[in-house]
Amino acid sequence: MRRIHKCIFCNQDSTNSQSVEHIIPESLGNEELILDKGIVCDKCNNYFSREIESPVLNLDGFKQLRFYELIESKRGRIPNSDVLFCGEKCDIHWQKVNGENCLMIGMLPEAINKFLEAPPKMFFTKGFELNDKKYEYEISRFLLKIAIEYYVYLFIKSEGSASEELDLEFDEQLKKLIHFVRIGRKDRKSIKYEVSVLHNYKPLSNDNMSIQIGFLLESNDLIFNLVIYNTNFKLNLSKANL
Ligand SMILES: [Zn+2]
Repeated sequence: MRRIHKCIFCNQDSTNSQSVEHIIPESLGNEELILDKGIVCDKCNNYFSREIESPVLNLDGFKQLRFYELIESKRGRIPNSDVLFCGEKCDIHWQKVNGENCLMIGMLPEAINKFLEAPPKMFFTKGFELNDKKYEYEISRFLLKIAIEYYVYLFIKSEGSASEELDLEFDEQLKKLIHFVRIGRKDRKSIKYEVSVLHNYKPLSNDNMSIQIGFLLESNDLIFNLVIYNTNFKLNLSKANL
């Protein structure tokens, strides 16, 4: 008997879908947290990548994270950054030399002179955008897409079954959350989330991706908790008022 798969987001037949779904984008270093093909259909998969992941991954906050952590894209690229060196803005990027990533700083002659005259003080100039209200809509959809997919991932793992007719008993709240990810909102109303930077975090401490993901219960609210390297996101799924 032929199995019929249905997409968890749009509920359409996804039996012939070809792509696996990365719960956290590959370009943040995720190779392990994956949903098998058909759980999210190709159409939703492409839409999420284009409309949800791409705009967020292009924010300076995430580019900087990838720069600091040397997280390479599928094509082996790490985003560039810039620094303020003795009052001059300089480009800074990683370059492979004999297979090792070396930090390259592009300086104008004036900056080199100042560098030689005064002790260098280096500051990264790009702002931390991940808590900027301007991007709340994009980032909350991005986080929620990950939360829903991780919920499904745990569901499949706990049942030990494949994706055949994944019949999740989503309650009304979850249906609203799925709708928000799948369709978005014209009025760009978003879900509140908290973001903080972990100061005790040690960068470059290992070669593996440094991501913690899970759900917490706080005063009976279901909280989605995601730590990507040094950045901690918390999204209250119960209080999401859509
Ligand atoms: Zn779909």
